[in-house]
Amino acid sequence: MSARAQIGVTGLAVMGRNLARNFARHGFTVAVHNRSYAKTASLIEEAGHEGDFVPSESMADFVASLERPRKVVVMVKAGAATDAVIDELVPLLEEGDIVVDAGNAHFPDTIRREKALRERGLHFVGTGVSGGEEGALLGPSIMPGGTRESYESLGPILEAISAKVDGTPCCTYVGPDGAGHFVKMVHNGIEYADMQLIAEAYDLLRQGLGASAAEIGEIFEEWNAGDLESFLIEITAKVLRHTDAATGQAFVDVVLDQAEQKGTGRWTVQNGLDLGVPITGIAEATFARALSGSVPQREAARAALPADATPLEVPADDAARAAFVEDVRQALYASKVVAYSQGFDQIAAASAENGWNIDRGAMARIWRGGCIIRARFLNRITEAYERDPGLPLLLADAYFTEAVGNGLAAWRRVVAKAAAAGIPTPAFSSSLAYYDGVRAERLPAALIQAQRDYFGAHTYRRTDREGTFHTLWSGDR
Ligand code: NAP
Repeated sequence: MSARAQIGVTGLAVMGRNLARNFARHGFTVAVHNRSYAKTASLIEEAGHEGDFVPSESMADFVASLERPRKVVVMVKAGAATDAVIDELVPLLEEGDIVVDAGNAHFPDTIRREKALRERGLHFVGTGVSGGEEGALLGPSIMPGGTRESYESLGPILEAISAKVDGTPCCTYVGPDGAGHFVKMVHNGIEYADMQLIAEAYDLLRQGLGASAAEIGEIFEEWNAGDLESFLIEITAKVLRHTDAATGQAFVDVVLDQAEQKGTGRWTVQNGLDLGVPITGIAEATFARALSGSVPQREAARAALPADATPLEVPADDAARAAFVEDVRQALYASKVVAYSQGFDQIAAASAENGWNIDRGAMARIWRGGCIIRARFLNRITEAYERDPGLPLLLADAYFTEAVGNGLAAWRRVVAKAAAAGIPTPAFSSSLAYYDGVRAERLPAALIQAQRDYFGAHTYRRTDREGTFHTLWSGDR
């Protein structure tokens, strides 16, 4: 077999198959392989005409069909399957070859795998890929980690197949070892927060306006023409206007209200706790999904807890209705800024801890296309980090300070109304609490320190003197 393929893909389920087609459509010769040959055969049969594929039944033939340094994209089920494929692949590779794990690996696994392959003279590039199966085919957002050296030959190929916004590829070098998969994880966490915030806005509008799902869909469509323009707002409008064919009801009304998750939100929250970064928007969104799925608890609570709240008053006229809609829009935008700000803080903290040197503005730039959280708003984030690469808090950038400041009164009205009406808005409320907490002159943390000193002699620092102090509390006990 002649070694003529420029890139190889092993693992040809929906994602791998579409990535391979994307490489081929961009003129690359693509070696393709799957554990069971049936998927390889079906790719060649159905999409073989799209470009130059080199199919192999065995891993050895697949590796032999690749130009050196070989570039192998592994696109299999995350976890044990990825290790199994790497174990089969590595003995067939030679020094300088590049293994790209494009699955949804947890970043500590990527750090482990990168180290093991580096010791064998191989490059391991843990790569986040966002955009689902359509993105993989038409242009995903790609977040590669690993060595800079590997990016020199691999980067142009990945950039070629990535989404483009204003001619700029939605792919850039992220940082060493686990950085790429880490950034993808936080991307998914932010996606959880964004979806929860949109869901809360929908719930408030639905209950507050007494409107149909389709009418709320129209509001979302209008919002999509402004600052909130994003893929998630766009699809929300479409989902809300969709009618269930079987019943003729609004589709959203026939879907069971129990949100599922695959685990990246949970990983993000666990990491936020490890780093001590308050990612409250992501955490509340993850817990809101858990609450929705807590069926026995929900049933018991519905039976035992009285409904004490007064429903939202439906606005009496068009002007009052428009004012309420605008309040919810502003509350959504402000809460979204907080959730993203927290996610970027998490990236900064992990980058510092792991020596990754991640450029946050570049991450916002590569999320503008291809991925689920693609949005106009990300341009603003890139600009903020370009103005100040060391920005300690996204909210402190002048653009965001003003944008959130302008919506603050509306945000408070919405959260207060929701609380009074008994409408759960965990992400709206926690984002506002974060905003107030992070900008507070003085926090009740002082009392917590005093309590800790009282019961555990944990000591405290003072406002008026340097040093660490302990009070002898025995007389007060
Ligand atoms: P998948 O259902 O996660 O995995 C199926 C693929 O893994 C098949 O090619 C299968 O081969 C292979 N596989 C499983 N166990 C294996 C083993 N022990 N040894 C060798 N191969 C094995 O596929 P997917 O949905 O295309 O996703 C691929 C990766 O992309 C996953 O890590 C996923 O998390 C990630 N991802 C998915 C999406 C999405 O929207 N689906 C988006 C971003 C990232 P056989 O055909 O032989 O069974």
